[in-house]
Amino acid sequence: MSLSVQAVRALREGAPAARRRALAKAITLLESSLPAHRAQADALLTEALPFSGGAIRVGISGVPGVGKSSFLEALGLHLVQQGHTVAVLAVDPSSSVSGGSILGDKTRMEKLAIEPQAFIRPSPSRGTLGGVASHTREVMRLCEAAGFDVVLVETVGVGQSEVAVAGMTDCFALLQLPNAGDDLQALKKGVMELADLIFINKADLDPNAATRARAQIVSSLRLHNQAHGAQWLPEVLQGSALNGQGVAEFWAAVLRHQAHQKDGGQFEARRHAQDLDWLQERIEEGLHQAFAAHPAVARRWPQLKDDVRGGRMAASTAARALLNDFLGVKTHG
Ligand code: GDP
Repeated sequence: MSLSVQAVRALREGAPAARRRALAKAITLLESSLPAHRAQADALLTEALPFSGGAIRVGISGVPGVGKSSFLEALGLHLVQQGHTVAVLAVDPSSSVSGGSILGDKTRMEKLAIEPQAFIRPSPSRGTLGGVASHTREVMRLCEAAGFDVVLVETVGVGQSEVAVAGMTDCFALLQLPNAGDDLQALKKGVMELADLIFINKADLDPNAATRARAQIVSSLRLHNQAHGAQWLPEVLQGSALNGQGVAEFWAAVLRHQAHQKDGGQFEARRHAQDLDWLQERIEEGLHQAFAAHPAVARRWPQLKDDVRGGRMAASTAARALLNDFLGVKTHG
């Protein structure tokens, strides 16, 4: 039996603890940049793929401090109680200070971390898109092959990370603070437009503010949707990750969204489009790496950078010269 068949068996058979260990090991292999490991990881993914796709994939985003980890823990525990198995691909905020992901699941989501039906994988927020590691799509497939039926992907709302997570999940949820209605920053940034669901957290602190925020967000989204002819009006809920209020309703809304997507055929279409994006991303990443590692390119690149910086050569001309080197195209003159 090949190593990858064994590895996928280990994901699918045996006690939960052993399967979680096998999953952690498989993810580590996937994240390795050693060429030998890349080949093994590809074989493993090929083996795992037929068993993947069965989970609901939910993205959770929001600014630091909005309560993402508290919410993920409350939601995860709710789901486990309902009989689900939950994988959380979480952001490890400690990594931006320490550079490692050592403290991650110890300091955040303590209760969920000890649940046999849950698996938490923190990834460093530094050097990635707000915690969306470059292998998150692959890791999701492995979690599914390991039998998890809900995959929650967390991201810190920075840069393009929301776009990345919305582009790899079935349902993208945004957490907001009760004062969100005051400035509607997220809507201006276009982030709220990505959201399938919005949860106004910390409603326990000021229920009236949360209700006001909710009304404001709902009316802005309604206007936006009318202008864009969108089919799904994002549901806006309010509650508290701290006392669990609204968490069950949130999950019910995720299921309503999923049913709506499936009925309209958007569910499959979204997944297919995401798979093609995944292909495109991997091609581009591979090309970048091959380009940077190409000996002729590596030789000439520093000089051409100097030339561009010094105004002696147009950037487009320098790029073409490097691409010709990369492609082995002979130039004349
Ligand atoms: P993250 O940075 O988005 O992951 O936020 P955390 O989950 O770490 O929460 C930040 C702080 O807000 C912590 O002190 C939490 O205890 C607190 N918090 C989170 N959710 C709630 C809530 O619903 N109500 C209240 N009152 N505090 C909350």
